[in-house]
Amino acid sequence: MQRKNLLITLGVLAIVLVAVLVLPNLDSLESKARQTIASAAGKAAVANMSGVVAENNARGLAAAELITLPISVAEVAPGIFKASGVGNSFAIKTSEGSVIFDTGLIIQASEQIAQLKEAVGDEEPKKIILSHSHADHVGGTRLWDQGNAEIIAHEEFEEEQRYLTELNPYLHQRNRTLFPWIPETPRTLPGMDFRGLVPDVRVDNDKPYRFTLGGRRFEVHGTPGAEGADNIVLWLPDDKILLSGDFFGPQFPQFPNVFTMRGEKVRKPIEYVDSLNRILALEPEMMLPSHLDPVVGGDKIARDMRKIRDAVQYVHDETVAGMNAGFSVEALMSSITLPPDLSLSQSHGKVSWAVKSIWEYYATWFHFDRTSELYPTSQRAILADVANLMDLEAATLQVRAYLDAAEPEKALLLLELLEGARATETLRSLRAETLLYLKERAESIGNDYEMYWLDSELEKLQ
Ligand SMILES: [Zn+2]
Repeated sequence: MQRKNLLITLGVLAIVLVAVLVLPNLDSLESKARQTIASAAGKAAVANMSGVVAENNARGLAAAELITLPISVAEVAPGIFKASGVGNSFAIKTSEGSVIFDTGLIIQASEQIAQLKEAVGDEEPKKIILSHSHADHVGGTRLWDQGNAEIIAHEEFEEEQRYLTELNPYLHQRNRTLFPWIPETPRTLPGMDFRGLVPDVRVDNDKPYRFTLGGRRFEVHGTPGAEGADNIVLWLPDDKILLSGDFFGPQFPQFPNVFTMRGEKVRKPIEYVDSLNRILALEPEMMLPSHLDPVVGGDKIARDMRKIRDAVQYVHDETVAGMNAGFSVEALMSSITLPPDLSLSQSHGKVSWAVKSIWEYYATWFHFDRTSELYPTSQRAILADVANLMDLEAATLQVRAYLDAAEPEKALLLLELLEGARATETLRSLRAETLLYLKERAESIGNDYEMYWLDSELEKLQ
């Protein structure tokens, strides 16, 4: 499996996997019972996903495949144990009890907990630190917590949970477009809700939360701007180890999602750069991300972090300069590219989308472009009339000409204007050809989300 295929983070799988099961109301049951149910849910989900993987060759399935990989625990540094999964969960052992960092996806959490307890002991952990509110990082919190563990999260954690919960139906439909094996409607497992967690300690951006347990020093730093406004990382100063949560996304190094095209809240670009500078100043020798494998080597980590920081700053500064010079967002999307020394994988975040994100972060909804932007009647409202006015044959020839001239974006625009016309076989095949052209072009950059979207558009034609 390719590493980049692991990017189904951010709750996509969580939504899927809790949706494949319907269980009775468990609200009144205690942690032990939750544990049993979670374990059963996990096994059922693995069986379900194994079936999906075996029966299909459909797109996005590498993501579903992930859930079927067996969970294992490894001691990645002295006294630091990593349980693998869609989201990793870590346990740090001390002579006065353990500290948990991230609690994984709810249906994997039970197995992760069982294995981590073999490594650090059966007692309730003293602290549970949550890197952010996405479902693949907080799932097992209520399974670990018997009421005495101190839950530590960012001061924005509850607000991020709130909006993700309120907008779940909207987010579900968007995710389902990109990951078509997700069930049609979101369902939940009553009693296994991973939302509504209330932290005991809220970490703000300016002041790290420091504590010592069993002689081991811990520092929790607020690092907003990456996968949400509520990101925190855990720094172990004596070991020079950073538990980075989801700050760098599913791969390191890579160009980040400034705003994700899945449509979550805005992320502040300069806040992200500031957070990166704060992490750089710690000078980690080892990084333990909550997805995939540890990264070792202070020089390499610092070099790659600086590259990510400088790439985001570069794209930001070029976008701002272009805005001030009066260029449109579209002009800047096509002209701003990373210089060779800052080149990074764009499989997760795409530079042209970052330009658009930064532009819209500052300028918001009115582009000062077309007057019609001010009103609720969209171009779609007149497409049927446009089709009647157009010489369909000439328009079709023009689409062909654009494709022959290697201008698929223009071909796509004209095809979108022809949507009000009767769907002919010629129009359908031109649309397929245009989408395939865009997909082939997209492969050179390899942005997973662009590919998933184009695939979903192609499937609509079948
Ligand atoms: Zn994640």
